[in-house]
Amino acid sequence: MNESEYPGRWWHMLSDGRMQCDLCPRDCRLHEGQRGACFVRMRSEDRMVLTTYGRSSGFCIDPIEKKPLNQFYPGSSILSFGTAGCNLACKFCQNWDISKSRDMDRLADQASPDAIAKAALADGCKSVAFTYNDPIIFAEYAMDIADACHAQGVQTVAVTAGYIHEAPRREFFAKMDAANVDLKAFTDDFYYKLCGARLKPVLDTLTYLRHETDVWVEITTLLIPGKNDSNAEIEAECKWIRKELGPDVPVHFTAFHPDYKMPDIPATPAATLRRAREIALGEGLNYVFTGNVHDERGGTTYCPSCRTALIVRDWYRIEEYRVTAEGKCPDCGAVIAGRYGEFTGQFGRRRIPIAIHTPV
Ligand code: SF4
Repeated sequence: MNESEYPGRWWHMLSDGRMQCDLCPRDCRLHEGQRGACFVRMRSEDRMVLTTYGRSSGFCIDPIEKKPLNQFYPGSSILSFGTAGCNLACKFCQNWDISKSRDMDRLADQASPDAIAKAALADGCKSVAFTYNDPIIFAEYAMDIADACHAQGVQTVAVTAGYIHEAPRREFFAKMDAANVDLKAFTDDFYYKLCGARLKPVLDTLTYLRHETDVWVEITTLLIPGKNDSNAEIEAECKWIRKELGPDVPVHFTAFHPDYKMPDIPATPAATLRRAREIALGEGLNYVFTGNVHDERGGTTYCPSCRTALIVRDWYRIEEYRVTAEGKCPDCGAVIAGRYGEFTGQFGRRRIPIAIHTPV
């Protein structure tokens, strides 16, 4: 085993001599030397190894709204990073240079969990985000970083497709304070044909998070013209969210841009995002946003009780902030779902790359 091969968990041997990975529902079955579909987990000398532990494609400080999380310490900054690979194979991937990377040399930054937590603290970040590619495939690293962050009072955020088996799901999310889960569509056919995955495990992750953990959850659906943007599908998704998760889980509808293996599909019109938002509100969801567009209504958190505007945003910038430190509407006293504290200003829409280089 060489130094970039960290012992991986969640696997067992099969009677035919192959090794099955039990981390995500792709259930890769590996011969010696083979990598899983995510590319970063590999069978090496009859053990599972994670080849990206301690390695990153770079660190940035972002506004939390960019994850997107609109009701988890709004206005705060978040130290964000990713590694390489992904366990889904979305043809419309908007981060494909990272998620499909098979070039480990791109992972130039080396950072220990402790160094990341200390950098977040030193840079005034409220939290650290595992993002850009799905952290489930580098769970061992993300969980160690989460422990280091919590020791420093820094919170942790997973930006994920939620495609994970039950046992690792419990361990992984026990270390997370918040998650933005991509619900990529509401048909199994879409997941199967365009993502190489299935819908049900994602729904299972969402219901698990909502009902069995204290993780703050928001959902993102990237609307792709002609693929998942029909009224019927959006309605079905919102009805399911309302019934199974309740009305208080924020939902973000975001715009697709032609990319990767779907260069011929046009970008999502802003009108589609607004239509989806109207449908979701009509289905009784309390916090519904449009993303990647200038849309004041679609960027604003409203009080679900008296309908007053409480957090007005223009893209990632907060124009007005009125939620109390206790997370209530100042006008009618209704509880505003989310995590809040004293609002002392905002990070703004900047993205600041930072360097962290420490041996792991
Ligand atoms: S985590 Fe990677 S290796 Fe494991 S089952 Fe999923 S895609 Fe395969």
